[in-house]
This record gives sequence, structure tokens and C-alpha cells, in this order.
Amino acid sequence: MANIEPVTESRYYRKEGDVYVCELCPHGCRIPVGGVGRCNSRRGEEDILSAYSYGKVSSICVDPIEKKPLYHYHPGTSIFSIGSVGCNMSCRHCQNYAISQTVTGRKRTTYESPEEIVAMCRREGSDAIAFTYNEPMIWYEYIMDIMKCAPDLGCVLISNGLVNERPLRDLCKVMDAVNIDIKGFTDGFYMKICGAHLEDVLRSARIIFEEKVHLELTYLVIPGLNDSREEIERFCVWIRDTLSPDVPVHFSRFHPDFDMMDVPMTPVETVLECRDIAEACGLNYAYVGNIITDDASDTYCPECGTVVIRRTGYLVEIEALEGRRCACCRTVLPIVR
Ligand code: SF4
Repeated sequence: MANIEPVTESRYYRKEGDVYVCELCPHGCRIPVGGVGRCNSRRGEEDILSAYSYGKVSSICVDPIEKKPLYHYHPGTSIFSIGSVGCNMSCRHCQNYAISQTVTGRKRTTYESPEEIVAMCRREGSDAIAFTYNEPMIWYEYIMDIMKCAPDLGCVLISNGLVNERPLRDLCKVMDAVNIDIKGFTDGFYMKICGAHLEDVLRSARIIFEEKVHLELTYLVIPGLNDSREEIERFCVWIRDTLSPDVPVHFSRFHPDFDMMDVPMTPVETVLECRDIAEACGLNYAYVGNIITDDASDTYCPECGTVVIRRTGYLVEIEALEGRRCACCRTVLPIVR
């Protein structure tokens, strides 16, 4: 295993006069010495822009891969999962706001070197690491160093997709699977609720797909804000025509949280309807999340209709898969095993 010294200098920035301009994500924060970026993970030092949250771990857990959610990446396995603090979005409904909307240094974290994280992951018997809980793109340098330490481990990100093209393309060289949250399908929603732009996120999804990294999408359905039939249809048609009908999409049920306590939980019927719309638009793998249903989280072979993977909550039964083939009609399915 390579011995890597913690490198805390940001990889992507430039200096303009007295300020550092961060080039990691589209916000392009201008950070003076002593200041921090919007994500609270980059800080202006006397001589460099630092990746201030490097190695600062807030959460460690071993989770079912389905919890991420990733349904087509080693289904039925567990994955070593870690997170830090901070985020480059400011979603009013964030379910992890205690770690995402905090300043690094004001929330308890422990420093773990890349080598320690790799050792922990191996002790847990996991052959992949998920960077999750808060936004992993702002942990960029740390993720790269961990993967440099252990290139044999799978690298999984659960992300909002807000990152610039150059760092993302470099990251794609070490990433194996990503779930991108598509928060809504209008720029108005993104600007008002999340403090970002839709097109920046869609560009990331296109790049990840183009780079042939395994990609799944999640859409949290919020009553009255992003749940119109027209908006869901446009989202599904975009997946079909810009990415592929084979990209799995998870429609998830909203519950009130953080700064959005005034919006009710999503009715179960609305989430199920989103899945129906996706199927009507020609998507082959549409799922529901945060609700238990009889069959809306199962994977069906699009050729012959056989249930190949059955799911009840996080209980997963591989029913009719031989390697990546449907055991019934032998069609090769887009499932990494
Ligand atoms: S990564 Fe953070 S500091 Fe850099 S531009 Fe984005 S929000 Fe600003």
C-alpha cells in the first residue's frame, strides 16, 4: 500500500490578486485569506487554498448498497460508507443538514488518514467504499488519495453532481459507480430551493455516463414543488434521450425536514405514479424509495418480464440472474456484479 502524506492543498484553483478563485465547482467562490467557500470545505491560507475538510470524518457505517440507493451495482452486498461535513448546495429540505450545513471545525469530526480508511474498509470485509452522507465532491483530494492507496477497492459516490467538468473527468478515472440526485427538473426549483443550477447537474450526469461510470439517478418527489406530471415526464424523456433507457431511476418519498417542515409527506400514490410515468416514457428500470411496496422496487427483465431481483426494504433476493444474464431469456442486463 502506498504511503501518502496528507495533501491539503486544493487541486483546482487560481489566484487573482488578493483572492483565491476555487475551480472545483460551478460556484467559483472567490475566497480571501482567512475566508471559506460556500461549501465550508475550502479555506484561504496565507500561501494556498486549502482543502480544509481533508480527512475529517463525521460518519462511518457499513450499509446495504441498496440504501445509497444503488440497485444495479453489486446488488445484495454491503458497502463501507464514510462522510464528512459541508455541502456546495443549501437544500431547504436536506435530510442530513446537521453535517451538510455546518462549518468544518464546528462539528465533531475525527481525522483518519487515507491508509486508516482503507484498513478499516478491509477489516469490515468490504471491497468498495461509498463516499456519502454529505456532498463528496468537496472531499475531492481525500477521495483521490484513498483510491490511490487502494486502487483495487471500488469507489462509489452519492452526489448532488455539482462539480466542474475537469475535476469530474479526472475523478471518473477512479470512480466505479455514482448516484446523482436530480432535485427537480426546473432551474427555478434549483435556484430557489438548492442554491444551484439544473444545467450544471445535468452536465455532470452526461459526463459520468459518457465516461462509462455506472450511473443511477434519484429524484426526491416533493408535493407541490417538483411533482407535476409534466415535469416528471420531461425528466424521464431527458434520461431516455440524453443518457439511456437503461439508466436506473429512483423516485423517493419526501418527508418534512430542516427548513421545509411546512410541506407534507409525499402521498404514496404520487411516488408510484412517477414510476408509471417513467415506464410509459420507455425507461426500463424505474424504482420507488422510502416506501415499502409489493413490487415497485423489484428489477424486471425488460425483454421477458421475469422478476430477476426481488426487494422488500433492504431485503434482496437474486431470483433469476446468472451473472448479468436473465436466467429466463438470457438477455444481458445492465447490472454490475
Ligand atoms: S467547491 Fe466549495 S469553495 Fe469551491 S467553488 Fe464550490 S462551493 Fe465554492
